Amino acid sequence: MPEIRKDPVVDRWVIIAAERNRRPFSPRSAAAPVEADPACPFCPGAEHETPPEVYAVTEGLRLPDTPGWRLRVVPNKFPALGGEGPVEEVGIAGLSRAVSGVGFHEVIIETPDHFTPFARLAPEEIAEVLLAVKRRFLHYKSDPRIVSAQFFKNQGPEAGASLAHTHCQIIAMPMAPHRLAEELAGARAAHDRLGGCVYCRAMEEALLAGDRIVEDGEDYLVYAPWAPRFPFETWIAPMSHRPRFEAMEDDELIALARTLKRTLARLDRALGGAPYNMALASAPFDAGSPDWYHWRLEILPVTARPAGFEWGSGFFINATPPEEGAALLRTV
Ligand SMILES: [Zn+2]
Ligand SMILES: [Zn+2]
Repeated sequence: MPEIRKDPVVDRWVIIAAERNRRPFSPRSAAAPVEADPACPFCPGAEHETPPEVYAVTEGLRLPDTPGWRLRVVPNKFPALGGEGPVEEVGIAGLSRAVSGVGFHEVIIETPDHFTPFARLAPEEIAEVLLAVKRRFLHYKSDPRIVSAQFFKNQGPEAGASLAHTHCQIIAMPMAPHRLAEELAGARAAHDRLGGCVYCRAMEEALLAGDRIVEDGEDYLVYAPWAPRFPFETWIAPMSHRPRFEAMEDDELIALARTLKRTLARLDRALGGAPYNMALASAPFDAGSPDWYHWRLEILPVTARPAGFEWGSGFFINATPPEEGAALLRTV
């Protein structure tokens, strides 16, 4: 019999319907690019095709926006948010409300190598990406207009990547997005009820049960949440209570890079190179160091698309129970 599971923090229900797993499934592949693309704006030599870089990891001395880099962060050429000026209400009419679209939308070009996908980068290269995210978060945080930032990665066209050369993105916003705000409220209420962090508690329970654990490391826990929206949805969170990503020490992020690489390799082997989205959940910049929030990295493989039922109901149907998904990921 299917089960309708509730997320322990937010009011989100997921139908775990293992029977549906017997439907035909054709893994989509997010295979690495095999042909060179002379028009790729992220390859060395094409630095002038992007807006001027705001951060780079380089091989020795080099002029900005020239070859000789290992990683570049550039503003998105087609930004979702941007611009100077204050955050203010604009164009208010009746019930319609809007504020000026101030923020940052930046692209992290993870490597000069056009052909290597993120999961196959060396752990040191993945660490440089995570450290760049931390540095950029600290930069946005110094801007009083910015309240939160969303780091995310779309791997493969089905996951929303428009360019093959591996990259990830950050959008920094003048508000906390709805999902984070809802989660903060839920986490705070749960904290009051439990007398402690609900995420720490959920991880303890997962460890005790054991069947949703993918990797029980010294610094990080890799596991499937109780009510995952998607098959093989996998979370990586620090074992100790840490509210915000950008407060992590550099050597902790170097350890995270190794854990992340192992986890992506497991997913790659289990799902035949399926495309995926990855998103960071971390406390907003104006939240201090809350006892009730705990950052995590979510990896969301794209094996099926949310469809009419999901959009209409806000419920998700997941055909792979997280216990089964984690069991497979442990063995590959
Ligand atoms: Zn390229
Ligand atoms: Zn915690």
